[in-house]
Amino acid sequence: MIVVKVGGSAGIDYDAVCADLAALWQQGQRFVLVHGGSGETNRVAEALGHPPRFVTSPSGYTSRFTDRETLEIFEMVYCGKMNKGIVERLQRLGVNAVGLSGLDGRIFEGKHKDSVRAVENGKVKVLRGDHTGTVERVNVELVNLLLGAGYLPVLTPPAASYEGIAINVDGDRAAAALAVALSADALLLLSNVPGLLRNYPDEGSLIPAIPANDVESYLDFAQDRMKKKVLGAAEAVQGGVKRVIFGDARAGQPVSAALAGAGTVVS
Ligand code: ADP
Repeated sequence: MIVVKVGGSAGIDYDAVCADLAALWQQGQRFVLVHGGSGETNRVAEALGHPPRFVTSPSGYTSRFTDRETLEIFEMVYCGKMNKGIVERLQRLGVNAVGLSGLDGRIFEGKHKDSVRAVENGKVKVLRGDHTGTVERVNVELVNLLLGAGYLPVLTPPAASYEGIAINVDGDRAAAALAVALSADALLLLSNVPGLLRNYPDEGSLIPAIPANDVESYLDFAQDRMKKKVLGAAEAVQGGVKRVIFGDARAGQPVSAALAGAGTVVS
C-alpha cells in the first residue's frame, strides 16, 4: 500500500500522474491518492473578489487564513474541480476511483483551531475566525472498505473537526497521518520541484537522501510551504512508514520515478 500526495502548485501534470497511477494500479499495486489545489484556489478566490490571505506564524510556517468564505471557495476547488478532475481522468483510464473529502465519513478528523498567531509588520497578532486544524485521526475503516471493494480512494482536505465543522488542514501532513494509519510501505509527496533542494530554487542542488532519524534538521533548507512537507515526512517515518519520497510531478512517470528512487528519499 502506497500513499501518493500530489500537490496543487503550478506546473503539476495531473494527466501524467493519473496515467502512471492507472498503469501501476492495473498491475496490482494498491494506492490511496491525496491531492491539493492551492494554485487553483488562489486563482478562483481572486476571481471571486476574495483574494487569499497567507499568514506566517512566529515559528516561520506559512498558512492560508481560512475564514468562512475562503473555506467555501476552498471546498469548491478542492472537493469540486480538483477532486472530480482527478476522478474523471482515472475513470477514463479504466480505474474505478472514488473521490471524497476528509469531511466525508470523517476520513480526516482533528481539532478546530479558531485563532492563529501571525507575524505582521514585525508584530505578533492573534487572528480569529480561522477554520483550520491538524489531522489527528483517520477513518482507516472507510478507506480500507473502499480499497477492499476495488476502488481507488482520491482524498482531499478539508477535514472534519470533532464538532463536525469543516477545517482546512495541510494536505502533506494529512497524507502522512493516512500513511501511518494504513501502515503504508511508502509515502510519495509529489510537487513541482525535483525534491528537497539545498539551495532553492537551484534544481541542481537536489538532496538525494535524508536519514529517517535526522529529518527535522533538514527543515532549515525548506522555505514556506516546503516546511510542511519535511514535517509530514518526519511524522510519517516516526510513525513507521519506511520510505517517504519528495518527487517531481511535472512530467514523465512521476509515481514510478519516485518509487525507483528519483527525488529526495527519506529512509
Ligand atoms: P504543493 O502544493 O505542490 O504540495 P507547495 O507549494 O506546498 O507544493 O510546496 C512546494 C513548494 O515549496 C515548491 O514549489 C517551492 O516553491 C517551495 N520550496 C521552498 N523551499 C524549497 C526547497 N528547499 N526545495 C524545494 N522546494 C522548496
